[in-house]
Amino acid sequence: MAFSSLDLLENEKQNIAYENRTRYVEIIAKALALGCILLSVLSLSGYVFSAPQLYRPIAGGSATHPLTAITIILIGFSVFLEHKKHFTILNPLLAITALLISLTVMSDILLSSKLAVHFTPFIDTVNVELQAGLSNSMGINTALMMAFLSSALLLGQLGNVLTAQLFAFIGLAVPMLSIIGYAYGITSFFGHMSILTTMYGMFLGGSVLCIHAKHGAVHALLSPHIGGRIARFQVGIGCFVPICIGYLFIQTLISVKLEDLFGLYVVVISWFIIVLIIFSAIIQEKIDEKRRDAELALIKAATYDSLTGIANRRHFMELAKSTLEQSALVASETYILMLDVDHFKSVNDRAGHAIGDKVLIAIASTLTNSVRKTDSVCRLGGEEFATILPKTSERDALLVAEKIRTAVEQTDIPGYTDIYGQVTISIGLAKAEDQQTIDAVLSHADNALYQAKESGRNKVAKFTDEDK
Ligand code: GH3
Ligand code: MG
Ligand code: MG
Repeated sequence: MAFSSLDLLENEKQNIAYENRTRYVEIIAKALALGCILLSVLSLSGYVFSAPQLYRPIAGGSATHPLTAITIILIGFSVFLEHKKHFTILNPLLAITALLISLTVMSDILLSSKLAVHFTPFIDTVNVELQAGLSNSMGINTALMMAFLSSALLLGQLGNVLTAQLFAFIGLAVPMLSIIGYAYGITSFFGHMSILTTMYGMFLGGSVLCIHAKHGAVHALLSPHIGGRIARFQVGIGCFVPICIGYLFIQTLISVKLEDLFGLYVVVISWFIIVLIIFSAIIQEKIDEKRRDAELALIKAATYDSLTGIANRRHFMELAKSTLEQSALVASETYILMLDVDHFKSVNDRAGHAIGDKVLIAIASTLTNSVRKTDSVCRLGGEEFATILPKTSERDALLVAEKIRTAVEQTDIPGYTDIYGQVTISIGLAKAEDQQTIDAVLSHADNALYQAKESGRNKVAKFTDEDK
């Protein structure tokens, strides 16, 4: 697969889009919170102006209790005022008040403590309605939802975003169950939760969940990269299919015994999850393969010279370092050859840069073919090359250098040698002494190369102690 720097730029663009996306989601979270505040104020005004349709949209149905509306307003404000940089004590105070109201209502329901009546506004209206047989209370499900949402806010404010999002998600389960109840026509699913409170709960839960979109699970879900894309696909299908299966299940339940259908339900859902995971794995593998190819292309680009295809300086230094270490272990001789094209500037000047490149490619190929497979060759830069010859005596190193020199001299390069004559190189040779660094050996080889140039070019010169 062809991989270019454009792909990297595309990646960078995606990261900017990712950043923006999380910011927009946080803005949406605040907008939702504001919407909940306004709608709850509207519901409360129904109590003020004796307009029950504002808190009980379906005549005779469930109502939004004044305490529910107040708790929504408290949580809504706490979300709306959430600001990472400017922490105010007001935020946790609002969340704690909402949590205390929810816990009091739960204690009233579970322990019959009758505490909430003392601070419930419009209690007279509520009592009149209750005596008239109408439903108007903050149910256990609503109280539970508010307790989870306010705790989520507190956890987020304390910096534990992941747990905060988990709590918000559990809080959201309550209105979701209520919606399923309204959709499937099962009253026990929503209990006393009015359709209005259900909608408020969905919006409020969503806003609490998304207020820290730059972190945790929501951040991962919003990712434009592979993980986020697969997660969104799984969440979407993972909710839609079981809800549809559940709907069919409920419809058939009326005529079939529960246990007959329950086994089937478990099998269908299990198979669905398996298919979903396998499908996700296929997509993930496809995308990951592309990423691996791109990674490999990057490694190759950082390792090999793009013109000649042989190792670049960086890679050669690594190879040479490990060769020297191994040579020291087995106490064998190692030589380094440094090669430089003679009068290469005039090659470019006479034949042009493109032909100059062609000459470099031809020399790299001749060099590679003149040495053993175990001898690393590289382009050090420009028109300079190097090779390292492990387990080689001085005599053999000189023979190899001579072999390379004559091979280059005899290489035909169409477009150059046929017009301007043969290309020659000069070679400097140096022995890697014990404990010597690769840089030191290279500098000796460079010294010898200079001698080869000085003595007339197209020569091999050996570094001797006198050159030190
Ligand atoms: P000498 O015999 O003393 O080595 O002389 P020279 O002309 O070979 O040496 P010099 O260092 O003066 O010139 C090297 C030239 O190599 C100059 C530079 O433009 C050219 N060069 C370096 N890299 C490339 C390349 O990738 N492609 C081409 N075509 N030319 C290159
Ligand atoms: Mg040079
Ligand atoms: Mg040169």
